[in-house]
Parts: sequence; C-alpha cells; structure tokens
Amino acid sequence: MTRPTVRPTVRPTIAALPAYSRAAGAGAVRWRASSNESTVPPSPRVVEAVARVGATSNRYPSLAGDDLVTAISARLGVGPENVVVGGGSLAVLQLALTAYTGPGTEVVHAWRSYEAYPILVGIADAEAVPVPLDAQSRHDVDAMLAAITERTAAVLVCDPNNPTGTSLDPAELRRLLAGVPRDVLVLLDQAYQEFDENTVDVPALIAAHPNVVVLRTFSKAYGLAGLRAGYAVGDAEVLAPVRNSAPPFGLSGVAEAAALAAWADVDHTAEIVATVTRSRGAFRAHLAERGLETPDARGNFVWLPVSERALELEARCVAHGVSVRAFAGEGVRVTVGDPAAEAAVLTAVEEFLVRSARPA
Ligand SMILES: *Cc1c(COP(=O)(O)O)cnc(C)c1O
Repeated sequence: MTRPTVRPTVRPTIAALPAYSRAAGAGAVRWRASSNESTVPPSPRVVEAVARVGATSNRYPSLAGDDLVTAISARLGVGPENVVVGGGSLAVLQLALTAYTGPGTEVVHAWRSYEAYPILVGIADAEAVPVPLDAQSRHDVDAMLAAITERTAAVLVCDPNNPTGTSLDPAELRRLLAGVPRDVLVLLDQAYQEFDENTVDVPALIAAHPNVVVLRTFSKAYGLAGLRAGYAVGDAEVLAPVRNSAPPFGLSGVAEAAALAAWADVDHTAEIVATVTRSRGAFRAHLAERGLETPDARGNFVWLPVSERALELEARCVAHGVSVRAFAGEGVRVTVGDPAAEAAVLTAVEEFLVRSARPA
C-alpha cells in the first residue's frame, strides 16, 4: 500500500507561533551583549558541584527539585509548598500558563516586553493582549488594568521590563495589584530582581495577594544561564496545579546542584550584581555624554531607544565586535558587565550619532 505524502496536522496555534529571535553575529563576535547573560562566570563552588553530581548522572534527580525548594523557601521565609522549581523560569512560567490559561482566555502583558511571552501564551492556546508601554518605556498600569476583561485569566508583569529596563516603583506595583480582580492570576516575572534597588517582600506579597506568583531565575544574577534553573513563589493552593503540570524530573540533578551551590555563595552573587551596577551606571553616563539618553535601567542591560535606526546601530556594534539585541523600529538592548564590550558599543554609538548629525 502506498501512503499519500501528507503529514500529521499541527495545531493551528502552534503553526502560527513566532520564532524566538537570534542576535545577528552572535556566533562570530568577540563579546556577547545580546542575551543578558552574566559576564562573570559561575562560582567555583558551582563548577565543583556540577562535576561532582555529573559523576552520578546515571541516577534520576529528585522528582521536583526537593533540596532546592527547601533552600529557596528557607531563605525567602516561606514554606516549601510555596515554591516550585524548574528548568529555567520560562519553563515554570509555561507551567503556570498551562495550569491557568488556555483556549478562550486572554493574557494581558505590556509590550514591548519579553519576546518569549507571546510565544508561551500561544503554546498555551490563549490569546495575548499586548498593552503599549508609556512614553517613558514603562508599564502603563492604568492601560493594563483597563485591558482586563471577563476573559482575562492572567496578567504578566515583567519587572524590571526586558528589554527597556524600567521597573515599577512600589506604589505602582501596589496600585496594579489592587486593581487586578482576585480571580485573575498575576505572573510577576522578576528575572532581574537582584539588580533592582526596588525590592518586594515576597512572603507579605503572596499573603496579601494569593493570586500573585513571583518568577525568578538562576540565569542572570547567579550566572547559570547555561544550566537552566528557575523558580516560582506563591500561595500554596495556587502553586499546586503549577507543580502538577510539570513533567516529572523537570530539573536535572546537575542544574539542581549548581543552583544550590550558587544560592549558597552569596558573595559571588553580590560580585555579579556589583559588576553589573558599576558597568550600567558608567555606560549610561557615557551614552548621555554623547547625547543618547536612556531610560532608567534596573536590569543587567541598557535600552537604547533609537527607533527606526535599531538595525543600523546593531550592525555597527557587530562591526566593532559586539553582538547586541535589536528590535526593528524600536531600539537596541545592550547587556552590561564588561567595560571592554561597552567601550566598543560606545565607539559604534559615536559613529552612529555622527551619521545622524550629518545633513541628508
Ligand atoms: C532572561 C529572562 C528570563 C529567564 O529565563 P530562564 O528560563 O530562567 O533562563 C525570564 N524572564 C525574562 C523577562 C528574562 O529576561
């Protein structure tokens, strides 16, 4: 019997997904400032843990990252039932979207924001409702609240916002949370929280707002982007379905051991944070001296709002040996933490500004 050359039918929402973009030149450049990775390598204690646990990789890890859950909950001052860990905070975010959204529901989020959001919302088969940032590249709290309808299942808040770097001040966050109906899940993505001087009291937050789930990661301030570990903190009853949506053994033993070692080495994390804040302040000041004003930066990156010339600036940065992340028509995001890379970007920016000063 000959079979027709048709293929299995993909779900239409999956077929329509946008692809996660790749930075131009990222393979060939001297410096990578395109993915918000830590420029500081992980703690030596992480490297030792990876080698040690790697040697027992014939064994399954714990079902749900039990030791890491214990360590995180102890430090944050919540119970283990208030923490879910997974292979990156994006993986945990996807579990939350799986558990709480789906066909016929809407997910409100700011835009421009993290490009993974429309993809993950699409995988969940929910509808993304993007709400434009305000003129300062910040979340527009009133517009986001106004976008909530009967169909809204979740509101995604990126704080600090990737790629613009701004964060909500505590009063704005309170106003946002006060305005979201209690039966709508708030996913507060704090991938860059460690670099932001605004902090939230997580136990108080989840006690006052059981509909809030805070997402954090080991990829940025802990220097573990390559190992994939992240976590969610929230109300026990709200998190239980998120935990139950996970495939078993979702966090590898090596990733768990690495995250535990990184979590314990607080001095190393402090060094990563200090490296970023030093670079960030100097880089923004140098840009301002050259006439390029940037929005308040609370992550490990700076947003250059060059609008329709974003791809041109990206090409100049690549020509000077640095990959950056351009969003066509909007701006360029530059990861900070390496003064040599920032100097190369400044050279590219100078050329770029000279060109714009010249009459057409
Ligand atoms: C980098 C980043 C993450 C981290 O994702 P992981 O899966 O933990 O590596 C999550 N959210 C935002 C907004 C990010 O920029």
